[in-house]
Amino acid sequence: MARVIAVTNQKGGVGKTTTCVNLAASLAATKRRVLLVDMDPQGNATMGSGVDKNALELSGYDMLTKRATAAEVIFRAEVSGFDILPANGDLTAAEVELMNEIGREHRLRLALNKVRENYDYILIDCPPSLSLLTVNALSAADTVLIPMQCEYYALEGLAALMNTVEQIQETVNPDLQVEGILRTMYDPRNSLTLDVSSQLNEFFGDKVYRVVIPRNVRLAEAPSYGMPALKYDRASKGAVAYLALAGEMVRRHGSQKTSAAVAV
Ligand code: ADP
Ligand code: MG
Repeated sequence: MARVIAVTNQKGGVGKTTTCVNLAASLAATKRRVLLVDMDPQGNATMGSGVDKNALELSGYDMLTKRATAAEVIFRAEVSGFDILPANGDLTAAEVELMNEIGREHRLRLALNKVRENYDYILIDCPPSLSLLTVNALSAADTVLIPMQCEYYALEGLAALMNTVEQIQETVNPDLQVEGILRTMYDPRNSLTLDVSSQLNEFFGDKVYRVVIPRNVRLAEAPSYGMPALKYDRASKGAVAYLALAGEMVRRHGSQKTSAAVAV
């Protein structure tokens, strides 16, 4: 049964979409069955996976408004090696249409429940706001993965996000947990980076991934070719870092399983 991970941060431009596409590709490269769900009307994760958001027959919009099932909307992003539930600007219309519906926060969860057993990991790319789409993602998720840049205001943003997670726990999803905190566009030459990093470690301990994602031009270029960095330039620092992240994640989950088994 898939672990459902919402990749979220209310801040834009922190590497949510880059993380979704490249982590999805890296997990798929380690033979995990992966679904990437695009919940951002910008459709960047869709395009970055090699799928034309302007040529979709069905999209997340049709699923959220119950015009189609998840299974009907999902297909294989061939270039990228994982399955995608794509999106485009129509998602904004779904938000409006859902506004007066009962259970509007749970549409995504109910739809994904039907395909969950087909995957090991389901990653959800969120928009940079606390919209109904984000709430749907957080309701559907087991955990949140938080990409962040180590800059001055980052910790403030993180506090706001933790607050959001608590609110979600109190309302739509009491089981929501933090998957991990990922430092993106990491530049160790910047002393602020190291300061923020040590504060993160102090507050969040082993929730902070050891792997950091460096600033790497290949990660920025790959989306314009419609592919993850792993396919665009396998040896690039960015591709290697996301592979290492997938490894760290899989090991964490493996050891959690073992300790649960021991506890039983
Ligand atoms: P978000 O989804 O949080 O808005 P994106 O993943 O779209 O953020 O990243 C914002 C911009 O930064 C994009 O142009 C992306 O290509 C670039 N980018 C993201 N991560 C990196 C990185 N590690 N190195 C270089 N550029 C990056
Ligand atoms: Mg994005």
